[in-house]
Amino acid sequence: MVIVMKDSASEGMVQAVCEKLEAHGFQVHKVVGVNQTILGGIGDIRGVDLREFEVMEGVYEVLRITEPYKLASRAFHPENTVVEVGEASFGGEMVTVCAGPCSVESEEQLFTIAREVKKCGAKVLRAGAFKPRTSPYAFQGLGEKGLQLMQQVGAELSIATVSEVMEIGQLDLMLRYIDIIQVGARNMQNFALLRELGHIRKPVLLKRGLSATIEELLMAAEYIMSGGNYNVILCERGIRTFETYTRNTMDISAIPVTQKHSHLPIIADPSHGTGRRDKVAPMARAAVAAGANGLIIEVHHDPDHALSDGAQSIYPQQFMRLMEELRMIAWAIGKRI
Ligand code: PEP
Ligand code: MN
Repeated sequence: MVIVMKDSASEGMVQAVCEKLEAHGFQVHKVVGVNQTILGGIGDIRGVDLREFEVMEGVYEVLRITEPYKLASRAFHPENTVVEVGEASFGGEMVTVCAGPCSVESEEQLFTIAREVKKCGAKVLRAGAFKPRTSPYAFQGLGEKGLQLMQQVGAELSIATVSEVMEIGQLDLMLRYIDIIQVGARNMQNFALLRELGHIRKPVLLKRGLSATIEELLMAAEYIMSGGNYNVILCERGIRTFETYTRNTMDISAIPVTQKHSHLPIIADPSHGTGRRDKVAPMARAAVAAGANGLIIEVHHDPDHALSDGAQSIYPQQFMRLMEELRMIAWAIGKRI
């Protein structure tokens, strides 16, 4: 349940409600807003008389959250959550672009691409050091060496970094080198991993599973948030349908639908969403027009020789033009890039 406190409620009144929630066996999550404090009580509501809370001093309103996700729900947190990482922010008036190669391949490759994307206005450098590949014979990533290169390039160019964690055992390493921890589509329902990510405080970029519903995506976010980490950024990256002309089907409608039901920022990944270089710009433009809080774009200076996802990586020149177009679209809907 959600308990909205009055503007005038004192610390003591808030504390008394927290204690009563705990006495009923609820886990308490507190959101302190500009004017109001909102308390989320997570637990079994059956047999609890909500009026007991309604009559308490300082309480404005008591609501049941009907969705299965609670902390991720807009009822619990009516304002947008803004996740901030260095100069980058997700969920406010900025449209934040994360860009880079699919995989870290070498120091020279990462520096070359990072310089280009930063120059064009990307606020986050994105590249994988641990790669989930369909084939066990395909390039699996540089591992720790790749993470070190990400940290080095990020520090030299003053740009935040994001990279994918594939298993719990990699998490300590990731935390040492990377600013935002990505959970890939294939791991969206790796519940043990999600629980671990609830115990960290770095932001988590959570990608929608290949055939996950929006509700399942929000339930995955709930796993992370229930551990106390509210810094979750969602990502629409295309879902599997019967269509074969694109790698996945980019679900643009997931952006406004998610924003209606949740306060968490949602970004779009048209690179994996389409799998084709020439489809990336149109879908990136559509995602920004639909209200995405940011984008992930794969960029490579020599995609023909990329060790992964060359076919969907755009050239730096194309990225530069796209960013100019996106600036105009963002401006038209009252946002900035
Ligand atoms: C990636 O971001 O490089 C990736 C593998 O994406 P996804 O998990 O969406 O397939
Ligand atoms: Mn990729």
